[in-house]
Amino acid sequence: MTSYPVTGGCQCNAVRYSLGAEPLFSEVCHCDSCRRATGAESVGWLTEPAESFRIEHGALTLHESSPGVTRGFCGRCGTTLTYQNGAETIDVTLASLDDPELFPPRAEIWLEERLSWNPANPRLEQHERGGGGGG
Ligand SMILES: [Zn+2]
Ligand SMILES: [Zn+2]
Repeated sequence: MTSYPVTGGCQCNAVRYSLGAEPLFSEVCHCDSCRRATGAESVGWLTEPAESFRIEHGALTLHESSPGVTRGFCGRCGTTLTYQNGAETIDVTLASLDDPELFPPRAEIWLEERLSWNPANPRLEQHERGGGGGG
């Protein structure tokens, strides 16, 4: 059993956060917007109820990457930490968790934008576009 809060943060430790409840979903996103925001070929996300996400130290720097979509990152070291589209939930990068093994992705989304040299993982649910969560 995972005990809460679960914690994470950016590379330089200026921004630290906690999750107070079990995530609703966990996924890998192949979309162009996530790629560009992070500089990575795909990005693992968990979806957390917004009320259970808390910044414990420092502050997110926010960037509106599409209308209504806000991405949060550390303004000092640049680590991508959050994605938010609406008030109900917030997505958090799996790899920024202190223990990134806690919530293995269940699905891959936006496979229609996948790079040819980044193979899909057939053990996960496959979605050509958005799936159960954000990203
Ligand atoms: Zn940082
Ligand atoms: Zn995405």
